[in-house]
Amino acid sequence: MPRVFNFSPGPAMLPAAVIEKVQAELSDWKKCGMSVMEISHRSPAFLNIVEQSKAMLRKLLNIPDNYCILFLHGGASMQCSAIPLNLSSPKKNADYIITGQWGLKAYNEAKRFSKTRIISNTMEQFSTPNTSELAFNDDAAYLHYTDNETILGVEFSHVPEIDNAPLVVDSSSNILSRPIDVEKYGVIYACCQKNIGIAGLAISIVREDLLGHHQAHTPSLLEWQHLHEKNSLPNTMPTFAWYVLLCCLQWIEQSGGVVQMQKNSIQKAKLLYEYIDNSDFYSNPVAPQYRSKMNVPFTLQKTDLDALFLQQSTQAGLTNLKGHVSVGGMRASIYNSMPEEGVHKLIEFMHTFSRQHK
Ligand SMILES: *Cc1c(COP(=O)(O)O)cnc(C)c1O
Repeated sequence: MPRVFNFSPGPAMLPAAVIEKVQAELSDWKKCGMSVMEISHRSPAFLNIVEQSKAMLRKLLNIPDNYCILFLHGGASMQCSAIPLNLSSPKKNADYIITGQWGLKAYNEAKRFSKTRIISNTMEQFSTPNTSELAFNDDAAYLHYTDNETILGVEFSHVPEIDNAPLVVDSSSNILSRPIDVEKYGVIYACCQKNIGIAGLAISIVREDLLGHHQAHTPSLLEWQHLHEKNSLPNTMPTFAWYVLLCCLQWIEQSGGVVQMQKNSIQKAKLLYEYIDNSDFYSNPVAPQYRSKMNVPFTLQKTDLDALFLQQSTQAGLTNLKGHVSVGGMRASIYNSMPEEGVHKLIEFMHTFSRQHK
């Protein structure tokens, strides 16, 4: 079976070069006589992965020295609990900007540990708010938003800048797809299985003055100060996922870094949106200025053809195009690892399919 173009929203496809490297190194990693899955998370060989991945992230995202990089269990979702536990309290208010399902989930989780407020909700409009429209609160413990809403296909094109509270961003589905100005944030967090690896590991980039303010009963594995002191190795960490993260970071670096990732993303998204906009067979519900460069939802005018579209696209080696139930239709996720060739193939398929079913 040849490799397909996997348009899944996550876990997503990996770069072919990374798969090949992992395969080549699998049974005898770095002349250890065993695989990276079998080595100790305390061994010098593994600590080398820890240090290299940290250094590579710092370099790729230009992370200043007063930010620490934490590697974590529990995906992005676990950080939705960790954030209020580390930054707020049952007496303080945490503010949320909602632009889609993930932001809403983060907000609902935060309610368990903090008072919360929604200061903006543009979910129904498939859009992001302008900073000038936002009513910031002076007493907020932090302000949380989701940079790219993976389900709706809505992405911020600007930072909702705020100077009276730390800005916390869920960057799970667009991290390392474009440069970011780290200094505008208190916390940047993401799971790895979309743009930078596989499931099992998440990262948080935390400004150091925000460490150590946790709630009394915060579990130690969710407590950032503790994790920082333990060098993100409080217990047995997912060594294989960490290794794959490093391979992906090295691949990004060798491919030209985040500037090149951004160029690729702009080009891939442009091709796909232009094709959809020029077709009367397919459509996308999001206004151009809010569109995600990572997740492109689209619907067929004739929804009774959805099942056939999915069946035939899969046969053509273009997989996992089914949209989320809340939006319907299709969704093509075109993260860092999706080559432009995959997007050309998809457009070709969409075009042929539309002609056959006019
Ligand atoms: C996928 C995703 C998550 C959830 O990630 P998990 O690792 O499954 O917890 C959270 N936020 C966004 C924006 C996502 O795309």
